[in-house]
Amino acid sequence: AGAPPVAVVTGANRGIGYEVVRQLAGRGHRVVLGSRDLAKGRAAAARIDPGGERVSAVQLDVADEASVAAMADWVTRNLGRVDVVVNNAAILYDTWAQARSADLGEVQRALDTNLFGAWRVTQALLPLLRRSPHPRVVMVSSEGGSLQSMSGGTPAYSVSKAALNALTCLLAGELRRHRILVNAICPGWVATDMGGGGGRPVAEGAAGIVWAATLPDTGPTGGFFRDGKPVPW
Ligand code: NDP
Repeated sequence: AGAPPVAVVTGANRGIGYEVVRQLAGRGHRVVLGSRDLAKGRAAAARIDPGGERVSAVQLDVADEASVAAMADWVTRNLGRVDVVVNNAAILYDTWAQARSADLGEVQRALDTNLFGAWRVTQALLPLLRRSPHPRVVMVSSEGGSLQSMSGGTPAYSVSKAALNALTCLLAGELRRHRILVNAICPGWVATDMGGGGGRPVAEGAAGIVWAATLPDTGPTGGFFRDGKPVPW
């Protein structure tokens, strides 16, 4: 019995990310709970793991390069490995906006978190991932980023998730030779602050993400899934 696998989850102080941490810790992972507000992250970690043996909160603003670098440094020094990266943090489900009149500053802000945030975090942890025996990267995406379903609305969010899906394909291709499995996952419509009322329970949305985080070495990689089943790009 070696050391448990280490998972890093971004945007994990609440919502789906929090539940992913809870489920991965329940499966025996050592989990790094990323939160841009460290006090909120520590409170969330203590709710899941009062003893502090399985879940550690770290300050992590995915839109801030220095914060991402400090997180990677902390993980390297304190845990020395990363096996799973769950890029979950996202903002700006802009149901009020239209592409034809969108505030491009807002679109840029969405891209900086939803696309570049995931890109930054993955790049920063890649040296550790490459040393893992079973490395997995999960991009928490949305069917709102599916080209098939783009008929108007949520421009910042949809463009950011479509771009995240493109990044998923590129990374999956490039990292195949390092046996790193990279997939995009839609959690479905989930009742969180972002999803609002009426969606399904967070446990169900998180389960599809945990599935991708714990895939066998046989894959898949480079896919887009909801509840473990392929969905159209
Ligand atoms: P929430 O809005 O409930 O939670 C978002 C989390 O991301 C919070 O912890 C928030 O932190 C964090 N976050 C935002 N910006 C940053 C940043 N720059 N750095 C670090 N953390 C950040 O969202 P959900 O839990 O609903 O969504 C999680 C993921 O699932 C997202 O990628 C979302 O797009 C996706 N998704 C959700 C759906 C739904 O129905 N809920 C449907 C499809 C996809 P803070 O508390 O500090 O704001």
